Amino acid sequence: MTSSRLVPAGVARNWPGMTWAALGMAAAIAIAAPVRGHAADAFPSKPIVMVVPFAAGGPTDVVARSVAAAMSKSLGQSVVVENRLGAGGTVSASYVAKAAPDGYTILIHHNGMATAPALYSKLSYKPLTDFAFVGQVADVPMTLLGRHDLPPNSLPELVTYIQKNQSKVNLANAGLGAVSQLCGMLFQKAIGVDLQAIPYQGTAPAMTALLGGQVDVLCDQTTQTLPHIKADKVKLYGVTTVDRIQALPNAPTLREGGLKGFEVKVWHGVYAPKGTPPAVIDKLNGALRAALKDPAVAARLQELGAVIVPEDKQTPEGLRTWLAAEIDKWSPIIKAAGVKAD
Ligand code: ASP
Repeated sequence: MTSSRLVPAGVARNWPGMTWAALGMAAAIAIAAPVRGHAADAFPSKPIVMVVPFAAGGPTDVVARSVAAAMSKSLGQSVVVENRLGAGGTVSASYVAKAAPDGYTILIHHNGMATAPALYSKLSYKPLTDFAFVGQVADVPMTLLGRHDLPPNSLPELVTYIQKNQSKVNLANAGLGAVSQLCGMLFQKAIGVDLQAIPYQGTAPAMTALLGGQVDVLCDQTTQTLPHIKADKVKLYGVTTVDRIQALPNAPTLREGGLKGFEVKVWHGVYAPKGTPPAVIDKLNGALRAALKDPAVAARLQELGAVIVPEDKQTPEGLRTWLAAEIDKWSPIIKAAGVKAD
């Protein structure tokens, strides 16, 4: 067979001055184009990895596993959760930003995607431009907790106690750059104290330390804290949302307890690496939306105090605009507070 037989007739006719090497490359591109389209049609043909930035068993992990299981059903392939811990979620985000843009490696992350640019002076990715957006998932309130035998019984009592015992009280968090760190930072700022911070690599180990009485105070999501609050294993000082929450109707908000304007709510988004084909993003988004309609997911999330976002936020554009607004909201607050994670 001569090499001329490998060149499609149309290519040779349209490009009479081309070298054989260039013609060969053009032919390869012509043959590869429909394969790429076919690859998107066939997606997914193998398991998808959903990267979670915090410890297994923690709040982000709980949301991720409920959604991943339901997405697996509609995609016909497993969506496997992989926990990649470290640096307040930036280890995971950086890993996914650099992964192959084929839809087989995706990220679920929370507010940390918006706070990292202000918290870290060296960030190896740009949240708004290094990812393709799949959609938002659910919002989760936070709770301000103390260890079971911490003396104060209400938020005003806690504030007075901390102000008197500043050097003795410590504040756990789920890692530098975690939302629990942000919540703790805002709490300290609101009451004018500077406590010793004890960072963990996610809420699961931070909560274990609180339950074991090794740390005094922790602010974290209901998806982790609710069962322990209901079992009376920790002291609850309030919820971080503007209004009281359905899952804990008797718990006052921190605002009611005297912390004016206090609000922290955890939101979640699903991302893929920049350059992931739009047809693949469509399939991932369809699976995400189907998961959020799944009654088992809705029941599980509701039971843990999470609220599935409205449909317009479950879209790529819904996530992108929200992330941009959150970066604009938190960057000046973090800078003004002088907090750095690195
Ligand atoms: N709740 C943690 C945070 O505050 C993260 C986690 O463990 O899911 O960011």
